[in-house]
Amino acid sequence: MPGKSKELRGLPVVKVSRRGADRLKGGHAWVYRSDIVSADGVAPGALVGVADDRERFLGTALYSSASQIAIRLISRDAVKDLDSLLRRRIQDAIAYRERVVRDTDAYRIVFSEADFLPGLIVDRYNDLLSLQVLTQAMDTDAVRQIIVSELEARLRPAAIAERVDPRVRELEQLPARPSGLLQGEKTSTVFSMNGLRFHYEAFEGQKTGAFLDQRENYAAAAQYARGEALDVFCYHGGFALHLAQQCSKVTGVDSSRPALEIADRNAALNGREIEWIEANAFDLLRDYASAGQQYDTIVLDPPGFAKSKNNLETALRGYKELNLRALKMLRPGGILVTCSCSYHVSSGKFTEVVAEAARDMHRNLRIVENRTQAKDHPILLTVPETAYLKCLVLSVS
Ligand code: SAH
Repeated sequence: MPGKSKELRGLPVVKVSRRGADRLKGGHAWVYRSDIVSADGVAPGALVGVADDRERFLGTALYSSASQIAIRLISRDAVKDLDSLLRRRIQDAIAYRERVVRDTDAYRIVFSEADFLPGLIVDRYNDLLSLQVLTQAMDTDAVRQIIVSELEARLRPAAIAERVDPRVRELEQLPARPSGLLQGEKTSTVFSMNGLRFHYEAFEGQKTGAFLDQRENYAAAAQYARGEALDVFCYHGGFALHLAQQCSKVTGVDSSRPALEIADRNAALNGREIEWIEANAFDLLRDYASAGQQYDTIVLDPPGFAKSKNNLETALRGYKELNLRALKMLRPGGILVTCSCSYHVSSGKFTEVVAEAARDMHRNLRIVENRTQAKDHPILLTVPETAYLKCLVLSVS
């Protein structure tokens, strides 16, 4: 075909609109379905060449026939051999962690777009790996086999588990599939971070098992924490256990009994006494605040309130409410560690909401640290969606 660039030979071609092309040229990895001009005969999950409306080559991508994100770029070059590209990407991801991760044997090894492996998450928990497949392309037998064999060869884990999110498979129009072991037999272990130890069960709990993105924030919180501390939305006790190194008394609150049972086992594993309370955090904070209960350190790490742009206002009200109540209970000189993991709540918006709560409560807040996700969850500067976690450490007067 005249004009067709040589990079587009040999692969199915997806043509994108001017807007889609501009997005890729701007450094983003995604093109939405509304910006696809043609994808005739392209199979679900295929490796495709991406072209603009004048057939100029833009890169090589993984295609989804179901997701609103139709194209996820995997390389700006022509890719002839997906096998070696995937292996190289995994090696690069491992090498990056070797440079930036300290004091732990639990960290994210592959973070999807941020490691140029869109649709794949791999976490390490000591000798176990936990993997999540999020797209059609990463779900093919061929790709799974490459991923597992490369991880096996480089990291020699005792086992590799796959955690399936049924909702993700439904959205990608993939057949249902249970969570299970892809290799090995071991399903539980103990991992370490910042000198503390944690139980890990491959098929229990949320995410791939723990909130590894908070690892560096745990250490930061421990640096400033003191006195009597309250860890709200404590899950397995990540913050609580770190606070217990500095504080005279620590209480953790969560609505999930199974999460608190593991938290309690973690406290025992580290020889710490922590009080766990099973409660709705909103109710408990309201009751405690009106009863005049006081703390020196409070951590707020709620689940993502804004799952989409549509419930942003409700989410902001939720964050404000929690921060208001915490501020009411903090003694002068106290420390507030307040987090948001909602991508849709920008760092600026989040800070603004906390500032509003401070004004309403007539408290002055100083930012001791303005933090984000741990370095093993890299933020790709040109893909804003890779930055989602906010963690403010504030001194309250
Ligand atoms: N701070 C934790 C992660 C928190 S994840 C860590 O670092 O590991 C959010 C937690 O909030 C989950 O454990 C969930 O069970 C809990 N949760 C959700 N809604 C809640 C509510 N209304 N009240 C109390 N806990 C809640």
